[in-house]
Amino acid sequence: MAQVSEIECLYIDFDAFFASVEKQLRPEIRRLPVGVTALDSEYSSFITRCYEAKKFGIKRGMKVRDARAICPTLSVQVARPDVYVKIHNRILEEIDRHVPVTKVWSIDEMECTLTGRERFSAPQLAERIREGLAKAVGPYITPSIGLSANQFLAKVAGDMNKPNGLTVLHPRNLPGPLLNLKLTDLPGISAGMSVRLDRAGVQTVEDFWNLAPKHARAIWGNIEGERMWAQLHGHRVERPETQKRMFGHSRVLTKGWNSPDKALDCLSLLTVKAAYRLRRSGYLCKALSIALRPQDGERWSAQSTFAPCNDDQALSRQMRTLFKLGRAQFSENVRIKSVYVMLHDISKPEAISGDLFDFADEDSARSKRWGNIMTAMDGLNAKHGKALVTMGPRANLPGGFAGGKIAFGRVPEAEDFI
Ligand SMILES: [Mg+2]
Repeated sequence: MAQVSEIECLYIDFDAFFASVEKQLRPEIRRLPVGVTALDSEYSSFITRCYEAKKFGIKRGMKVRDARAICPTLSVQVARPDVYVKIHNRILEEIDRHVPVTKVWSIDEMECTLTGRERFSAPQLAERIREGLAKAVGPYITPSIGLSANQFLAKVAGDMNKPNGLTVLHPRNLPGPLLNLKLTDLPGISAGMSVRLDRAGVQTVEDFWNLAPKHARAIWGNIEGERMWAQLHGHRVERPETQKRMFGHSRVLTKGWNSPDKALDCLSLLTVKAAYRLRRSGYLCKALSIALRPQDGERWSAQSTFAPCNDDQALSRQMRTLFKLGRAQFSENVRIKSVYVMLHDISKPEAISGDLFDFADEDSARSKRWGNIMTAMDGLNAKHGKALVTMGPRANLPGGFAGGKIAFGRVPEAEDFI
């Protein structure tokens, strides 16, 4: 860990991304408060909403019906994941014209490491990126950009002046502006973690700043506490490269197994398999992608994002929703050559901060309950045999699905999906 004295990171986080994309693509709703839902239902809740809608008191996770009651002019749009992924790709292309993207954190957040002269003209670079994005992607899809010593501080900076902000948090001015923040404003400090900090006598960012690094580690119970302390202080923190970021499976479908219905069966099993590995590693995921490659024609893929979870029910539901979208792209008698499913936006339960969206509490609670049931089932299966307890009947596919015997092919990279 080295102390950084210059701006080494540029972090971009798009403002109310899905709602902004809808405004960009639908001029007729630009002047309206806009909320985006995952499903076309009055009982569905918002996964994001624009800043105008926020002013009416519309919250993430609020039901459409309740929102209409307090905001009659509200325009409700159903999320179009495939469209958002295309825009995401155009964004990456444009940023890359100015500076290489070092890491994509989510569909609307990305990080660029600055080197050499870029470090001394970072605000100008940020402005060029903003102008480029307005031209290439559209002026309604606005980014908030943070500049600082490392990714953690640059993300914090980006959040300080949303929407459409540019905030420089220079290492020489630390802790300065950080002291105005709440602990839960820091990425990785969830409400649960702030309770634990409070018990240890850490109530403010200043308290946290003044801790001894070893003390921070003790509060977290692992090295993550010390890492966070170091990042807050403007250190460059290297993370082990071995950290697992995605769990996924692919499969080539043999003759007799390449109808759409069989492809869905196969995807269901692969999803359950990936979810099992996710739970075994102690992670939750916030995004799922699938890809379908037909025998003739182009590969189709899409991604959905949701409240952090690791249970078969929630993930299978997401997979099926995407599959329906994909199925509709192909003719009725299409033959599917191969399928992929991938769980990403992976994090440990204690690191979840709901930074992209907040979700209805009941969804999270349901997922948590299912997560506990799945963990109990995993335990039984590990002790007594691979499929002693399953949710519903388990189909057998050619080649079987027993552990390491199956060749799932390579684990695809995120780039395969975006
Ligand atoms: Mg955002």
